[in-house]
Amino acid sequence: MSKKMLHYSGEGRCMSNVLPPLCRYCGKPIGKRTKTIMFGSSDQEPADHGWFATRREKPRTRAEAQRFVNHPIVSVRYLGEGEDRFVSNASVWDGVSYKDDFFCSNEHAQNFAYAVVQSPDNKLTTQAYRDARDAQAQKIKEK
Ligand SMILES: [Zn+2]
Repeated sequence: MSKKMLHYSGEGRCMSNVLPPLCRYCGKPIGKRTKTIMFGSSDQEPADHGWFATRREKPRTRAEAQRFVNHPIVSVRYLGEGEDRFVSNASVWDGVSYKDDFFCSNEHAQNFAYAVVQSPDNKLTTQAYRDARDAQAQKIKEK
């Protein structure tokens, strides 16, 4: 088995498109950004609302549901019992989109920010912070 070479962009994003980006805080793979297709809708026409879409059909199986969507289905949920059972929700993935490029959650983005500002050699500040700090220092001088 040969070792695959991985190429990373300047931002550290794996360019192979095979592997998900890893959270800069915990190192876990970042989840896929999926779209939910809701089947069995009472709407007359299929409707696309961005992160979800609705369709009237009530596919009985995952394979049948796949025929109504362009991207591969990654998970399904069923509704009903016996003869009435159908795929109510299908999550589809476009093969390239993840929830975020850098963090698995807002909490980990926040934890990362706290770790950065508390790091002894951190010099990273925003212009807004520097302006406010300078204005504060000016006020103290004026007293
Ligand atoms: Zn994380």
